Order: sequence, then structure tokens, then C-alpha cells
Amino acid sequence: MTPFDLTGRVAVITGANTGIGQGIALALAQAGADIVTVGRSAADETLAMLPDSVRHHDIRADLSSAAPTAGIVEEAISRMGRIDILVNNAGIIRRADSVDYTEADWDAVMDTNLKSLFFLAQAAGRTMIAQGSGKIINIASLLSFQGGIRIPAYTAAKSGVAGLTRLLACEWAEKGVNVNAIAPGYIDTNNTTDLRNDPDRNASILARIPAGRWGKPSDMGGAAVFLASSASDYINGAVLPVDGGWLAR
Ligand code: NAP
Repeated sequence: MTPFDLTGRVAVITGANTGIGQGIALALAQAGADIVTVGRSAADETLAMLPDSVRHHDIRADLSSAAPTAGIVEEAISRMGRIDILVNNAGIIRRADSVDYTEADWDAVMDTNLKSLFFLAQAAGRTMIAQGSGKIINIASLLSFQGGIRIPAYTAAKSGVAGLTRLLACEWAEKGVNVNAIAPGYIDTNNTTDLRNDPDRNASILARIPAGRWGKPSDMGGAAVFLASSASDYINGAVLPVDGGWLAR
């Protein structure tokens, strides 16, 4: 047993059919966790990549509203027995100049990226508090620290994720529940296809990353295992950049 061993723990990951959620699900499974994927699309590709020994269950839920959050926790517990780790990863981005940004885009981004994240944390937090232990990892962003351009709702939501991470950490640390966040840098996923397809944005982003490359979903795995494991038992309310050095520049 190492402090990073997750054998016997049950991890729930939202948006794990692709991208960062898939990378984190695979890393947690490789560290020994059993896996519950949650999303509006089937996570077949992710489940097929899991080691044979890993117990898993896939829950269909649309997190554009908070309505399914309590049911997700009930289903995960009824199928897997408990929840030890929640990774709040599902998220969307809608780009437009702020002068043109629509209320529909604002609501869609805030509902998925912030409201559902809070109510799923609340539902999981209740059961973790009752069992006296748990790890919640919210997926924040560089836009939890910076302003960005053309993504007002995303920046507001991800700044909110950082704030909620700190608030929940303050309320739940003494109850044995660690709440922390990972702030990915620029990662090669569906979320950033538009940026990578724009030669000027792509070049300016790459020029600022000290590591000299876009991140991969697998680059988030080590931080996720750390924050899911007993190695991080005295870490509460941290927002950990995993960004190839972007914020250091
Ligand atoms: P992605 O490949 O587009 O993955 C987003 C995931 O969220 C998908 O599984 C998606 O499911 C799911 N999702 C979206 N809306 C949902 C809904 N209403 N209900 C259930 N699931 C929903 O993008 P990603 O880059 O991996 O993003 C994952 C997280 O990382 C997001 O919170 C994003 O904001 C954050 N992030 C990404 C970057 C980056 O550079 N890529 C940087 C910082 C933070 P579908 O496949 O069904 O759409």
C-alpha cells in the first residue's frame, strides 16, 4: 500500500466519456479505484479501456440541470455500495464577444458548470459526511484565476468553482471530507478544438506555455490520484494548476 493507493475506493466521475474526464477515470482506475461514469453520452470507450479487475457502472444523466444530482448519488451507492471520490468534471463552453453574449448561453454554461457541480457535491457530500470520509475534486480552469476573452459565463462559472471549492472545504474539512480543485491549462480536448483550429490563437497559446505543448487528458491523472488519495488528507480548498507552467509565466 502506498499513500496513493485507491484500492477499494469508489470514484464517481462526471463527463468521463471523453477528454479530461476520461483521462482522470483511467488514472483513478489504474490506482485501484472502482469507477462510476456519469454523463449524457454512454461512456463505452472509457469503460472498455479500464483494467479487467475494475468494477464499473455507467449512469445516464443530463447535468444541464441539477435535477438528476440526488438520483446519481443514490444509483451509485445502490450499485457500488458507497462513494469515496467525486470528480465534478462535466462542463461546456460557449464563445462570443461579451457585447453579443446571449442569456441562453449564460444560463447553459452556469447551470452545467456551476449549479449542477454544487448540487452534485452537496448530494455526495451528505453521504461522505455520514461515512466520515470523502474526496471531492472539482475541475476548475485557468479562468478561475484569469479573465480570458469571449467566454464571460465560463469565466464567471469557473471563478465560482474556485470559490465553492474553498467554501465547501471550510465547511467539510473537519468532517473528514477534502474538497479541492484541479485547474487544467490548455488541454487537447473537444472543449478547445476551436482554439487549436485558429492558427493565430493556437500559436499565441503555445508561445506562452513553458512546457511548450498543449496538455493531454492523461496529464491530469497524477493530480487527480493525489487529490483522491490519503496523500492529500491535509489539503483542503486548494486549486491546483496543472498547466505546463502557464500561470508561472
Ligand atoms: P470535453 O471533451 O468537451 O468533455 C466535456 C465532458 O462534459 C463530456 O463528457 C461531456 O459529455 C460532458 N458534459 C457536457 N455537458 C453535459 C451535460 N449537460 N450533462 C452531462 N455531461 C455533460 O471537454 P474537456 O476539456 O474534457 O472538459 C472537461 C472539463 O475540463 C470541463 O469542466 C472543462 O471546462 C474543463 N477544462 C477544460 C480545459 C481544456 O483546455 N480542455 C481547460 C480547463 C478546464 P458529452 O460528450 O455528451 O458532450
